[in-house]
Parts: sequence; structure tokens; C-alpha cells
Amino acid sequence: MAKKIQILGAGLSGMIAAIDLSRHDYEVTILEGAPGIGGLGNFHPSTHGTPIDGPAAWKYIGLDLSSCFVPPKAFRCYLGKRGFDLDPEGLFLVERGPRESSIDHLLYREAQKVGVKFEFSHLVRKHRDLPPGSIIATGLFPELYEELGVPKLQAFGWATRMEMQRPPELVAYFDNYIGDYYYSAVVNGIFFGMLFQRSPVPREIMERCRAFLREREGLESPDWFYATNYVPVIDPDNPRLFAGDKILAGTIAGMMDPVFLFGINGAVLSGRIAARAVYERDEAIKDFKHYTRNFRLNHRARKWGEKMPPQLRMLWGRLFLALPEFIRRALVPTSKIGIPGIKEFPSCRVIKKI
Ligand SMILES: Cc1cc2nc3c(=O)[nH]c(=O)nc-3n(C[C@H](O)[C@H](O)[C@H](O)COP(=O)(O)OP(=O)(O)OC[C@H]3O[C@@H](n4cnc5c(N)ncnc54)[C@H](O)[C@@H]3O)c2cc1C
Repeated sequence: MAKKIQILGAGLSGMIAAIDLSRHDYEVTILEGAPGIGGLGNFHPSTHGTPIDGPAAWKYIGLDLSSCFVPPKAFRCYLGKRGFDLDPEGLFLVERGPRESSIDHLLYREAQKVGVKFEFSHLVRKHRDLPPGSIIATGLFPELYEELGVPKLQAFGWATRMEMQRPPELVAYFDNYIGDYYYSAVVNGIFFGMLFQRSPVPREIMERCRAFLREREGLESPDWFYATNYVPVIDPDNPRLFAGDKILAGTIAGMMDPVFLFGINGAVLSGRIAARAVYERDEAIKDFKHYTRNFRLNHRARKWGEKMPPQLRMLWGRLFLALPEFIRRALVPTSKIGIPGIKEFPSCRVIKKI
């Protein structure tokens, strides 16, 4: 008789773990707090930008997700008033959420094909309500962090979305008055933008960013909403594959880049690692260590960056972009990239100043 396993959270890592376990003859049930695919809260539909080493990732998870990772046609980056058209090579856009065109739906269809069962509107607040050996893949949502004793930091932001028929593009905007950054991505006819930092963001900051976008991007998105979530990047030892008798997957496992808070790539790889922890525990531990090996270093780099005056950080960004590509790559060698599983730092070659 097939062994049963429960997974909490029908997001990226949860569904990837479920598909893998189903293929290994487990009877998998995913408990999801939202009433359907697309996640709790008002985050999605949203569009994300991420570097990903696609072929290596698809091979590792045994699933080809390339149709969901769209290369942007343009990548504009602003460092204060200075704008740059950058080479988008190595970066991809992905849609999250309840729409059929999202990666969530692609995974849902794959999961259904291999017989994964879903229980929607099933919110679990206590991990003790789940059997030992269950996988917890609840992403950036707060409840389980407290419960499992996973150190977390609260991130705050303003987000906006609207329909937009434009070729896929990515915009990043850094400025002295923004703790982290603003990004927006257009893909599959959706525009989503978010300004975020690791402390509360007053409305005036959002309005300032909005005015900048109006002026430089000719963009006026009508509705902005305030959002907050939790990220496991507060402690140099944040990454953990196990918490008590449970297995962690995705962002809550610390498979996140502590510098820019990229989480997609880590969630994808982590789904397979968590599944492996069920049937090949030692191999899973090895993989987890491998993919999170640079977390500490990058956590330290981030702390160091936070101590720099914002003007100096901006200057460093401009200097970095002005360097020849081989020096940039040498400064951020493969082994030091914070994003789990990335081989090469994205090109970020300046095509022209704008
Ligand atoms: C608005 C936004 C923009 C982002 N932009 C980027 C970006 O541009 N690039 C990037 O790399 N990363 C980005 N991230 C981060 C990235 O999306 C996440 O790190 C990643 O998706 C997390 O994947 P996961 O599998 O851990 O969880 P998710 O895919 O978030 O799935 C978690 C699932 O668990 C469910 N759940 C949560 N709590 C419970 C509970 N108690 N009971 C039952 N179900 C529960 C949720 O409803 C959800 O379906 C962004 C995140 C957000 C929210």
C-alpha cells in the first residue's frame, strides 16, 4: 500500500515536492489555506523577475517549466536619476497566482496528472496538527514561522498591478530613500510593480516612487496597496531543512537570497530537496547544504551593505555597472551568488544610458 504524506501549501515548492513524491509512489495530499490555486492574501496575480539556470533546474526537479519562464525583451535599471538599458540575459519573468497562464496552474495541472490530492480552504496554524514527516511549504506567510521557531524578518511594501499589453520587460529602481528597491515586470498581459524594504514604508515614499515612474517611465498605475510578509533572512543560520519532525520546503526553509530577496529559484529547487528528504534523507541533506552554501556569506554582505550610507551604495552600483563584464563576473563569482543554484551572474551589461 502506498505511504501517505501531507504537504502544507500549494505554492511552488509544495507542488513540486508533491509531484516528485507522487512519482515515487507516495499518496500525497496538499492542504492549502486559499480556496483555490493562487495563494492566500492579495499578492497575486503578480509577475516576478528572477535569474534561473533553467536547464539545470528542470533536470534536477524532473519537470520542464521553461514555458513559464519568459526572457524579458528589455531591462531598465535606475540608480537614482541615472537610468540604464541593461542586457537582460540570464533573467526571466514568471507569473504567479490564480490565472491559467501562471506557473502555479502549470504545476497544478502536472500534480493532478500524477494523482496529487488537494484540500483547499484548509488553513493550518499549528504544525502539530500535521503528522510527523509532513512537508511545510507555506512561503512568506507568518503563522508557521512562529510556530516552528524559524527566525524571520518582516518586509513591507507597496504593490500595484494592472493589465498591460507590452512585450515582456523588467524595471528595477534603486534610490537613496528606498531601503530595498522597486521592481516591476510585465508578462502575459499583466503589469505588477512593488516597492519594498525591511521596515515600514510610509505612503510619502510610495508617492515619491510613483512620481519618479510617472516622469521616467511614463507610467501611471492607479491602485497601490500596502502589503507585508515574512522572509527568513534575519539570521546567518536561517536555512534549515527540518524543524522538529517536519520537513521544510521553499522560502520558509531559507532557500532565499538574503541580498535581493529572490525566492523563486530557491522554491523550485527546494521542492525536490524536500521530497528527497522523505525517501533519500542523506542525499537531501547534501543537496540542501550545497544550494544554501553561500547564504552566510551573502547575509554578511547584506549587513555590510546596510551599514553603507545610501549615497555610497548608489555610487557602488554605478561603479559596478561601469566595470567590464569580466571584472563584474570576477567580483561576483559563481560561488558567491546568493541565489541558490545559479551558475552565472546575469550579464547586466550596459547597452545604453537612458
Ligand atoms: C508580491 C511578491 C513579489 C515577489 N517578487 C519576487 C521576484 O520578483 N523574484 C523572486 O525571485 N521572488 C519574488 N518573491 C518571492 C517568491 O515569490 C517566494 O519566495 C516564493 O514564491 C515562495 O515559494 P514557496 O513555495 O516557498 O511558497 P508559495 O509559492 O508562496 O506558496 C505558499 C502556499 O502556502 C499557502 N499557505 C500559507 N500559509 C498556510 C497555512 N497556514 N495553511 C495552509 N496553507 C498555507 C499559501 O496560500 C500558498 O499557496 C516575491 C514574493 C511576493 C509575495
